[in-house]
Amino acid sequence: MSSGFDHRLPPPLSPLNVYPVTATPGPPQIQGDQEPLVFSDQVTGVFCPRCREETRFADLYGTKVVCCPSCKGFLTRGEEFRELVAKLRKQYRGPELRPQPLNHCEMKISCQCPVCEGPMETHPYAGPGAVVIDSCAACRVVWLDCGELLKIKRNPGRR
Ligand SMILES: [Zn+2]
Ligand SMILES: [Zn+2]
Repeated sequence: MSSGFDHRLPPPLSPLNVYPVTATPGPPQIQGDQEPLVFSDQVTGVFCPRCREETRFADLYGTKVVCCPSCKGFLTRGEEFRELVAKLRKQYRGPELRPQPLNHCEMKISCQCPVCEGPMETHPYAGPGAVVIDSCAACRVVWLDCGELLKIKRNPGRR
């Protein structure tokens, strides 16, 4: 052990160099960009038009929707959707989005109605928000992709 070799170890790293300084204690961050979907265990027999996963019944602000556990897109009846939008826009007090141009590429992505399997109509949502939604006139349902309802809620305009 007594060779001329230097056995001294380098000085230990200070904890600040080892652990990221961003790990600050405190309450968990609220995920502001997710709708408060409460999934039930009940499967619907209806498959997600986007990812083909079997949807489940879920509760969204008191409205029962058919929701994909994977992509969080959901299907709802036209009338219930309008009521939900009206309610959410009225209650919303958070920051508003800047008006955005419509993404015309989204208009080209059509999907199959998960209920009757006919083609869904892809069209801009008639209310506030540059949102493209899919609807089936025969089944009177609309499909919303994840985040679209939030956009509608946060867009400026009459509340
Ligand atoms: Zn999906
Ligand atoms: Zn349909």
